[in-house]
Amino acid sequence: MSIENKNVVSSYFGAMTFDQKAMRARLPKEVFTALQDTIRAGREITEEIAGVVAHGMKEWAMDNGATHYTHWFQPMTGSTAEKHDAFLSIDRDGTPIERFSGEQLIQGEPDASSFPSGGMRTTFEARGYTAWDPSSPAFLMKGGNCVTLCIPTVFISYNGEALDAKTPLLRSMNAVSKASLRLLETLGTKGVSRVKTFAGVEQEYFLIDKKFYSERPDLIMCGRTLLGALPPKGQQLEDHYFGAIPDRVLEFMQEVEHELYLLGIPAKTRHNEVAPHQFEIAPLFEEANVATDHNLLIMEVMRKIAEKKGFALLLLEKPFAGINGSGKHNNWSIGTDTGVNLLDPGDTPEKNIQFLVFLVAVLKGVYKRADVLRMSISSIGNDHRLGANEAPPAVVTVFLGDLLERVLDAIESGKIDLKTEKQVLNLGLSQVPVVNKDYTDRNRTSPFAFTGNKFEFRAVGSSQAVSVPNMVLNTLMAEAVDEMADTIEAKVKAGKDRDSAILETLREEITATKAIRYPGDNYSDALQQAAKERGLPNLKNTPEALRVLESKDVQSVFVKYGVLSVEEIESRLNIRLERYVKGVDIEARTLQLMLKTLVIPDVSEYQGDIGSSFNNLLSASDEIGLSKAALKSQAGHYRTLAENLSLLIDLTAELDEVVEKLETLDGEFAKADYCANTLLPFMLKVREVADRLELMVDRSRWQLPTYSEMLFEH
Ligand code: ADP
Ligand code: MG
Repeated sequence: MSIENKNVVSSYFGAMTFDQKAMRARLPKEVFTALQDTIRAGREITEEIAGVVAHGMKEWAMDNGATHYTHWFQPMTGSTAEKHDAFLSIDRDGTPIERFSGEQLIQGEPDASSFPSGGMRTTFEARGYTAWDPSSPAFLMKGGNCVTLCIPTVFISYNGEALDAKTPLLRSMNAVSKASLRLLETLGTKGVSRVKTFAGVEQEYFLIDKKFYSERPDLIMCGRTLLGALPPKGQQLEDHYFGAIPDRVLEFMQEVEHELYLLGIPAKTRHNEVAPHQFEIAPLFEEANVATDHNLLIMEVMRKIAEKKGFALLLLEKPFAGINGSGKHNNWSIGTDTGVNLLDPGDTPEKNIQFLVFLVAVLKGVYKRADVLRMSISSIGNDHRLGANEAPPAVVTVFLGDLLERVLDAIESGKIDLKTEKQVLNLGLSQVPVVNKDYTDRNRTSPFAFTGNKFEFRAVGSSQAVSVPNMVLNTLMAEAVDEMADTIEAKVKAGKDRDSAILETLREEITATKAIRYPGDNYSDALQQAAKERGLPNLKNTPEALRVLESKDVQSVFVKYGVLSVEEIESRLNIRLERYVKGVDIEARTLQLMLKTLVIPDVSEYQGDIGSSFNNLLSASDEIGLSKAALKSQAGHYRTLAENLSLLIDLTAELDEVVEKLETLDGEFAKADYCANTLLPFMLKVREVADRLELMVDRSRWQLPTYSEMLFEH
């Protein structure tokens, strides 16, 4: 591949992917067409096609320097996994040759026992296989001097259970398509054969200098700081957002984008975020499964380039206490294969009715499954962000904007009579996208905001894969859409004409889902109060949120739509609980280590310094004529330091006991609750004292890089 000019992105966009262009060049025409048809219809690839595709793919990969291939998949831990195999094989007569068969393309067999199954398989049958997801293009990854062909795959057990995050997402995309096709038919829309869901994922992150990172055990082990006093200049000034991007960071961003363009990932925007050293990257939206893969690749590419440029990339939700955290805004929409965005108000009454029905379906789904949506974004890191003052709360509400609020109110109060006046056209719906794109009509505090032709799910954590949130969105939408179709069809059956049946259904649902609409400030106490009054779920931490998965009613919706079986749900629950407990345990142990090996020794040394200087002063005080009062205040300073150090030593000993107790508890939920309600709060209590001491100790004695250094030095 020759890259003439880095600035002409279109000339090399997707050069490292086996995209349409590469396929057309490398595959016989009839195979190319057959493959496209198969992808479009979501059918399985035949062995015959697979063989030819594999050959073309291998030739293309080898021409671009690849020696190995891997099935690239997403185990339930939320990251990605790969096992590399060489193309090289040896013929019977001993001749070396590169081979890659259709079978190797469509199916692989990683040793499943090294990936968590959440108890789904016993060890003796710990076999799983990966299978190609042809709707997500294969790509080449460079690492060291090696180029590897990566084939996006699902990961399933031999009994067909999903061992990964991609399979349920793909299933949910099918479910929402099927339900939406039925609703469209009910509405009288013709010519649609598939309904797609899209995601545009805005990724926030911090970049700090590698040298600081490598001196912070907490960042290395946990991804967030467990200690650190707030710098005098936090983000009070808010001068960072959309400010000039520092050159060194800009260079990083440019290199990241270049890599992403090669991988066919349409990175579109880059800017500073609210906090110092915080930035954002957002690609254009794509179909949900591709957008999910691409977001994972974005995180991977950023990590690699950061390393190369002497930065550390911090993806965790809240790396610095008291400083803005990072999120991942998941922009979600639903549209037809004919190119119509179902969440985009149109310019005909029919289009507007279709828009209103799908919009209300979203309200219905989010209202009914708010707790599941909240569960989908729960994680150890996001717990420190959700509910804090700069991030969406743990309560899920929907923001629609003034104009839509008025439209829905008008429909509800019966001011609109669709049949006689076709008034839906005159509601000003055509202005909705314009109005919602206007920053003045945005509610940046809302966890789930309508922004013109999509919903922005803002509560997703920055380090999370978006497969689970999108899987939940699609499933709750499938259910809501199905129920709306049921209601409309029942009314028609009972003798209503279609327009009246639709309008009546809209009216009923607008009333029924009113509690989920919240136009106000979601960071306020009023929201907490409203949540209580309206009976909205307010799940404060990960264990509380994960309990949602135990509900029979919640399980039944995933089962009904073929997204997850009960066993698959239970395995995910087990894995997430275990990861949470392990994560908090690691944090607590890292904190112990830092206190014992860094903070306490540093403070003790400094205490020794001022102790001896105080003694010197004392013995010379008569000679130099130091007043009693001056002596007293210096003694006071010494005492405060010593008292805080003693307190810290006591609390550290107590922390040991609090940590040890975790292991004695029975059952993962008991452990998780203990982490959330006892261990983490105790860690905060210890931290307060350590942070106080940081501000009293001579900087040259303090080994840990400070917040000021990490956040303000470049
Ligand atoms: P913002 O003002 O919130 O930054 P943008 O218009 O820049 O909004 O979009 C943010 C993200 O939303 C981008 O990834 C963009 O591609 C995506 N997006 C835009 N339209 C849609 C849509 N219809 N469905 C899903 N995502 C979308
Ligand atoms: Mg946005």
